[in-house]
Order: sequence, then C-alpha cells, then structure tokens
Amino acid sequence: MSDAAIHDPEFRFGEGRISGVLGVLLGVVAFGGVLCFWFPGLFTTPDARAMYAAHLGAFRMILQAALVGAFFLGFLSVVLSRSRRLGLTALALAVAAGLMGGAQAKVGVVESRPFYFGVDYFLLELLALTVVFVPLERLFARVPTQKVLRADWWLDMKHFLIGHVGVQLVSFLIALPAHSFFKWAVSPAFQAKVAAQPFWLQFAELLFLIDFLNYWIHVAFHKVPMLWKFHAVHHSPEHMDWLAGSRSHIVDTVANRALPYTLIFLMGFAPGPLLVYISFVSFQAVFIHANVRWTFPGLRWALATPEFHHWHHCKDAEGIDTNFAVFLPVYDWLFRTAYMPGYWPKDLGVSGETLPQTYLGQMAYPFKRRA
Ligand SMILES: [Zn+2]
Ligand SMILES: [Zn+2]
Repeated sequence: MSDAAIHDPEFRFGEGRISGVLGVLLGVVAFGGVLCFWFPGLFTTPDARAMYAAHLGAFRMILQAALVGAFFLGFLSVVLSRSRRLGLTALALAVAAGLMGGAQAKVGVVESRPFYFGVDYFLLELLALTVVFVPLERLFARVPTQKVLRADWWLDMKHFLIGHVGVQLVSFLIALPAHSFFKWAVSPAFQAKVAAQPFWLQFAELLFLIDFLNYWIHVAFHKVPMLWKFHAVHHSPEHMDWLAGSRSHIVDTVANRALPYTLIFLMGFAPGPLLVYISFVSFQAVFIHANVRWTFPGLRWALATPEFHHWHHCKDAEGIDTNFAVFLPVYDWLFRTAYMPGYWPKDLGVSGETLPQTYLGQMAYPFKRRA
C-alpha cells in the first residue's frame, strides 16, 4: 500500500467512515422523503405527482429501505468511528424520519400554490447517481487516489442541490424565451408531421440538431470574454467526478438549454423520442465528467466520453478550447476543434484565473469588476 493510502483517513474498511457517509446519505433520503409525503404540494415536482401516486407502494418501500439503512449504518459508524459526527447525524435523520411516520407517513393534501421545491427530484437523482457512480468510480477510477468526498465536494453538492431544488425557477427561465418570443412561429401542421416520423428518426434529429446548437453556444461561451466569465465556473473544478459536472453558473445553464428548448417547442417532437432523448442526455452529461478510466476504443469518436470531455476541462495548453460538443464529437471533428491524443490530460481547471470557492462567490464572479 502506498504511503498516501496509509495516511488517507477515508474509506478504509473498519473505520466507520464508509458507513457514516452512506448512513447520512440514506438519512437525508429518508427524512427528505417523509417531507415529500407530508407536503407534496411544496416539495414535489407537479409533473411527477401522478407517477408517485401510481407507484406509492414502491416509493414507500424505498423510504423504508433508506430509513432502516440510515439507522443501521449510523449505528455501525458510531460504534466504529472515533469521530461520531457522521453516525450521529445519520441516526438523528433516521429517528426524525421515523417519528414523522417513516414509510407509513400519510400523504398530505396537494393545495394549489404558485411555487414548489424539487426536493423529490434532488433526492431521487442523488440516490440514483450515488448508487451508480460511487461504485463505478471506486472500481474503475481514472485517478484512483481521488476520494469520494474529495476537495470541494461540498461546493459541488450545493450546485447540485440548488439546481435540483430550484428546478421550477430554472425550468421557467429556460422556457421563457420560447413562450415569450416564438409562440407566433408554432405551426400545428408542421408539428404533426414531425411527430409522425419514426421514433429513431426523431431521436436522431434531436441529437444532431441540439448538439449543433450546443456546440456553437459552447464556443461562444469560450470565445466571448463576457460569456467566458460565466462558463469559467463550470471549468473551475480541479477534480472531475459525477458531481463536478453540476458546477455551473445559472446563466450558463439557462443559456445552454433555452435555445434547445425553443427548438423542441417549435418542432413538436412526440413525447416518446423526447423522453428517451432527455433521459439519455441527462445521464450522458453526468457520465462525461465521471472519474472513470474507460476509453471506449471503438466509440470514442462517435460519442462524447469521459476521455473526450476531460480534455475539454484541462488546463494543459495542448487541450485548451477543444472538444466543445456535448454528445457528438463529429462537430469538433468537422470544425477542427477535436483533441484526443490517446492519453489523459494532466491538470484540470481554469488556467490563469482563480475563481472564488464559494457558491455565492461563483455566482457573483462574472459581475465583478476587474483591474
Ligand atoms: Zn467549456
Ligand atoms: Zn463539463
């Protein structure tokens, strides 16, 4: 074992750290889940409510499993760990969730209200992404010494949390240009033709059209100095993993999605291909940031992979301003910005600029006057 690994206080079996972190995660899911049961009108996304009602039994089971897991792992961590903070936090969350009814919590009335928080969206994504990516990044790490709770993980978690809980505001801003300026351009006859095309063709159109738009928006955010200040926030992580991709300025997020949204709004794709496309790109956007060493030899020029996007995030001079595509490297290849030399970049982050390391500092960064 290397010297660094011996002194690494994290994630060695028998020290109560793994159980503590997992316990807190499950505690947050259990406690947040109970809040969603109690106040569905305030803490759940309206579009998902019918699905929750149809599968209530399954969601109660997830809640029960999270509660029992938080309790058990919290207890284990308290016994094993010298610092009992994580274990006690997990236990406190589990007890609070249990006292509020646990998996048997009654479902509150959905009153109509003008705003909601996407707590459900945050909890389910957090649970799903942790379950998929934490083991993947431990087993196939590109940087094996990088911890799960690496430097700045809490900052990225704040970006993740705010982006999900504030889903209503983000979605509103993304849809605003389409609904304010392009309603006149909607043609029901044209939309009916688009939606009548084969499933695979609609999916391919979504992929190619939106990636083309996103390629040029992304180039603009790199080349226009005022826009770069917003996008620099996304480039500021010096450690890549599934969570690092969440770091983004809200202006960057909204600009990158508002135009594709407008296109979808005008084209009128059928719900099926649209849902598959959105699920696919949501997963892909997380995956390309992951700390995973797979290089996909046959696919690396067909689809953006961690190797492709890690180069986009590099500080090394050879890779700066390359690989702008989000999903299809073909655009970088066409416009001469593709770069994948067959090894991994050395340093990640923003070169020549130091960004604030707080959430609010990063939101204010583009508006700061510079000497
Ligand atoms: Zn970029
Ligand atoms: Zn990125």
